[in-house]
Amino acid sequence: MSDDVKQGIKISEADAAKLDPADQGEVSKDAPDQGDVTGQAMYWYPVSCPWCGYIQNCLVSGTHRRYYNCMNCGRPFNFHG
Ligand SMILES: [Zn+2]
Repeated sequence: MSDDVKQGIKISEADAAKLDPADQGEVSKDAPDQGDVTGQAMYWYPVSCPWCGYIQNCLVSGTHRRYYNCMNCGRPFNFHG
């Protein structure tokens, strides 16, 4: 268990327009179990939305950089894991 909530980083609307939807990462309200997927490093981090402050869990898998859409306000952000 960790209360180490990470601060999200805003993605501007101009930058968001260039994002590939395939790079959108999963978000979840409840923290799922870590390491559920065999042979793949997957981690959920609690992240605070930089737009509205809503805290949600963001999935990071491998080294691929993803972006996330807030579950509460729908605006894009990323974070440094
Ligand atoms: Zn938000």
